[in-house]
Amino acid sequence: MISPQIKPGKIYDAIIIGAGHNGLTAAAYLARAGLSTLALERREIVGGCCVTESIAPGCRVSTTSYIASMLRPEVISDLKLREFGLRMVPCDPAIQVPFLDGQVVSWWADRERAKAEFSKISAQDGETFVRVDDKLKKLARYLQPFFLEPPPEFDTRGAKGLTELFRVGKRFRKISNAEIAELISFLTGSLGEFLDHNYESEKIKTMFLANNVYGKHGGPYQPGTAIGLLFHLLSGGEHELQGFFGHVIGGMGAITQALANSGKKLGVEIRTEAPVAKIDVRNGRARGVVLEDGTEIGGRLVISNADPKRTFLKLTSPRDLPDDFVHAIRGIKMEGPCAKVNMVLGEEPRFTGTPAHYTPLERTFYTLVPSLEFAEKCYDTAKFSEIPEELWVDCVVSSNADESLAPKGKHILTCFVQYVPYNLKHGTWDENRELLGDRVVKKIGEYAPNVPGAILARQVLTPLDLERTYGLTEGNIFHGDLRLEQLFFMRPVAGWSQYRTPIDGLYLCGAGTHPGGGVTGAPGHNAAHQVLRDWKKGRFKQGA
Ligand SMILES: Cc1cc2nc3c(=O)[nH]c(=O)nc-3n(C[C@H](O)[C@H](O)[C@H](O)COP(=O)(O)OP(=O)(O)OC[C@H]3O[C@@H](n4cnc5c(N)ncnc54)[C@H](O)[C@@H]3O)c2cc1C
Repeated sequence: MISPQIKPGKIYDAIIIGAGHNGLTAAAYLARAGLSTLALERREIVGGCCVTESIAPGCRVSTTSYIASMLRPEVISDLKLREFGLRMVPCDPAIQVPFLDGQVVSWWADRERAKAEFSKISAQDGETFVRVDDKLKKLARYLQPFFLEPPPEFDTRGAKGLTELFRVGKRFRKISNAEIAELISFLTGSLGEFLDHNYESEKIKTMFLANNVYGKHGGPYQPGTAIGLLFHLLSGGEHELQGFFGHVIGGMGAITQALANSGKKLGVEIRTEAPVAKIDVRNGRARGVVLEDGTEIGGRLVISNADPKRTFLKLTSPRDLPDDFVHAIRGIKMEGPCAKVNMVLGEEPRFTGTPAHYTPLERTFYTLVPSLEFAEKCYDTAKFSEIPEELWVDCVVSSNADESLAPKGKHILTCFVQYVPYNLKHGTWDENRELLGDRVVKKIGEYAPNVPGAILARQVLTPLDLERTYGLTEGNIFHGDLRLEQLFFMRPVAGWSQYRTPIDGLYLCGAGTHPGGGVTGAPGHNAAHQVLRDWKKGRFKQGA
């Protein structure tokens, strides 16, 4: 992407620090509303952790995020992302778990087909699936509207406080006592206990485990992990489907390229290789930014797509922030716990047990986790700062969903590794990078024996690499763990959930804000709308 030079002396209405998908989303909405908007990205490409990159000649990979599930339909249509090339193919099956006895359990998008598949293992679990699916979808619908609006700030007084209470109350006005109890148990209970309570087959439970704790700290029996079940049923994709999972044609970078091109058409200026060293704060108000090369750029508003720790502990001075705020920011739980291993293969992986009639798309998604107990032990090992010997690996043969990613005959295998520590008890990640890669390959070989011998190129991204290359503090993929005390009106920290910050004119727009991580566009959308509400009040229109 060509980076236009900054026009000397120009004061922008809005400067966005970081061109991740949320920064680009915010930028496009602000430009659409008529604000002169500049997005500054430290890397040589836009996209943050929603990118497609080359890891071998002619071979492109979604190096970090790899599945689009909750990308907001409103963002897709408002910013006309289809016109800018965005195409998604539903993952079908949405989840697929192979077991070492050769059985492969597939969760088909069509509910009757999924029920029939589960009933082959347990007729009772097939029936339960339909009942639980209905219940979860209904509960998720109560939460859905909160996704695209700022969380309520309960610490408000007078008329504003009443309005906030009314806003929340309105969303739940038809909820029953039983549903309130269920909602609370999903927010606070453990996924493992929920599955044990409802399903009898270990295989079915394992299949529901897959995907619902990704990126989070905590094994499946940790309180608060059941929330993943609801989170993934918030609708996404252009057709607003509950529980949508999609492969993006051209890789995840096609999302951020579409956002960048849409933004540019609306007037956003984007500059890559432009790392911001500090936010210029004078008299409690953000006035612009200073780049690492010393370039000063004036802005009436500064909106940070960097995570909260990076924004407040690196780009601003503690002198400009209240002590209790800095203390709260320091306390945000990050610390990993994930990695990624991307490979180019000389042949398609052959996962044992995959029925011969499955289409390439049906041979795309394989989650390698044998049981809930395995997952719990894996987290325990990582929790004590060791790299688990036995890893939980999520594999996507993305070239089966999109042939354009690799030359004919070659395949792309992108693997998400759940539960590795950020801080290691023994040695450094630079010393242990290839060990992690080897363990991932060994694990895959147990399920797809042809993979270890077919590797032509391998890229291992440890939590440290996620921090160094993608700017994720402590390698946390969501800019802060998705746990109850770091969600909703407590995200990024209590009292500051509405995208504003203690520094006047400085806002946050990344995954560290409500509603959190994942490629949703929601934080960027919500932050931009909050900025515009404040902008319309006229407070920031004069000078920087
Ligand atoms: C390995 C991995 C796998 C994932 N898998 C999935 C998945 O399959 N599906 C899914 O929905 N989500 C997934 N996620 C999570 C999801 O990708 C992120 O939560 C989301 O993309 C965050 O978007 P963002 O725009 O808020 O932040 P980011 O994408 O982190 O963007 C922030 C941007 O700010 C830039 N920046 C930071 N500091 C500065 C500075 N000082 N100056 C200039 N620029 C700066 C960074 O370089 C970056 O480009 C995954 C993430 C990772 C890392």
